[in-house]
Amino acid sequence: MLFNTATRTKEEFKPIRKNSVLLYSCGPTVYDHAHIGNLRSYLVPDLIRRLLLRSGYTVKHTINVTDFGHLTDDGDDGEDKIMKGMRREGYEITLENMRSFAEPYIASFRKDLADFGNLEPTDLTRASDYVAEQIKIIETLIEKGYAYEASDGVYFDVGKFPSYGVLGNVDIEQLRAGARVEVNPEKRHPADFALWKNASLGWKSRFGIGFPGWHIECTAMAFATLGKQIDIHTGGEDLMYTHHNGEIAQAESVTGKQYVRYWLHNAFVTVSDDRMAKSKGTGIRLEDLAARGFSPTDYRYWLLTSHYRSPVNFTFEALEAAHQALTRLKRFVYIDCADVRASYPHEKYEHAFLKTISDDLDTPKALAVLWELMKDQTVTKEQKLATLHTYDAILSLGLCDTVTEGQAALGHLETKTAPEEVQKLLAEREKTRAAKNWLRADQLRDEIEAHGYTIDDTPSGPRLSRTASDA
Ligand code: AMP
Ligand code: ZN
Repeated sequence: MLFNTATRTKEEFKPIRKNSVLLYSCGPTVYDHAHIGNLRSYLVPDLIRRLLLRSGYTVKHTINVTDFGHLTDDGDDGEDKIMKGMRREGYEITLENMRSFAEPYIASFRKDLADFGNLEPTDLTRASDYVAEQIKIIETLIEKGYAYEASDGVYFDVGKFPSYGVLGNVDIEQLRAGARVEVNPEKRHPADFALWKNASLGWKSRFGIGFPGWHIECTAMAFATLGKQIDIHTGGEDLMYTHHNGEIAQAESVTGKQYVRYWLHNAFVTVSDDRMAKSKGTGIRLEDLAARGFSPTDYRYWLLTSHYRSPVNFTFEALEAAHQALTRLKRFVYIDCADVRASYPHEKYEHAFLKTISDDLDTPKALAVLWELMKDQTVTKEQKLATLHTYDAILSLGLCDTVTEGQAALGHLETKTAPEEVQKLLAEREKTRAAKNWLRADQLRDEIEAHGYTIDDTPSGPRLSRTASDA
């Protein structure tokens, strides 16, 4: 079951094709690094993809990066975000420089996705690689009478697409009433949106030199990498009103067929109950979390504790609680079960987990099932381990690593970021242990524990972890 924004109901998932599923996710505008709020919008398709893989489907998943043409206002106004970023970094504005400016942000996005535990998208497309395809669609829209040329570019004529605004129930007549007076007088309707913007710089087209509009790029990349009809399209909830309604109008006017079967939108990660955003100075990155001793999977676990359609407020206290819960799990897997061989998954718990997570990705309930399993004294360690492995094939929390890798990851961050006092005690304990002074070593362990840290002596050395509270 998936909650489809287009119908505002939970629907049974039925793929368009028999064995394969086509999935498209709107990616970042690469004028800066992604923040951890953005990652919520890539967690959703990753969970879906993993669930579908488990059900035996092959899944093609495209994520795009917008490397030009996304204005600071989601409509047709404002400044181009990429050019703004280029000016910030002192770049001369040229098409080649636009490409180079984006490179490090694309690389850091790839790295964030991998660190966050996501499967690599089958295609990570750059909008600037698909300009010819975008121009072609615009030409078709003009030929078919859905678009018209104005002195500053080409516009989509929403009046020709009566069902415009399905997502988020957008009423275009209200848009007309609320339109500002300075709205472009050449537009036939204030909700008409730019397919092409003329500019002094840009690509050559039969409409002049300039840039494709923001919405057309996703339609072109979805068509090119997946096809004309896709199963699932995802993005943050801000995208539904303008960007995704625009995509539907363009695509369906070209093909005459339904563009997307299921639209999924995630709610925001907030800070002090306001949307996390780079522009507001609240954009925290994964590496900021690492500097404070939190791993990307701690953050992933924290995201999973809430439902993707509910807004969720980020605090370090909440992340600490997630960290402790995940550490408890990892200690079970990599320390308590270091010598245990996983047997076979526990049928009841495996079924309960799949049932909850398949219900519109109800991850909070799925985690509740996980903790029920952990507490169940009648299930053997061998079976718990095997069941956790099946859970992790969907959740991707790093519970399927080798014992050596798992142990290394467990204490790695904490050992690096523990307070100096704790580091000193740890070093002293190592010396005492080398001198086989076990009594003193035990006293030092107690002192370290009094600072809120647990030590695990693993073959690759001692590992610190912040003590998980039993709350
Ligand atoms: P952007 O780089 O702003 O184009 O955003 C990339 C993706 O992240 C889009 O799907 C946005 O809707 C989503 N997004 C942006 N900010 C947040 C946030 N604070 N919480 C969750 N998703 C977000
Ligand atoms: Zn998009």
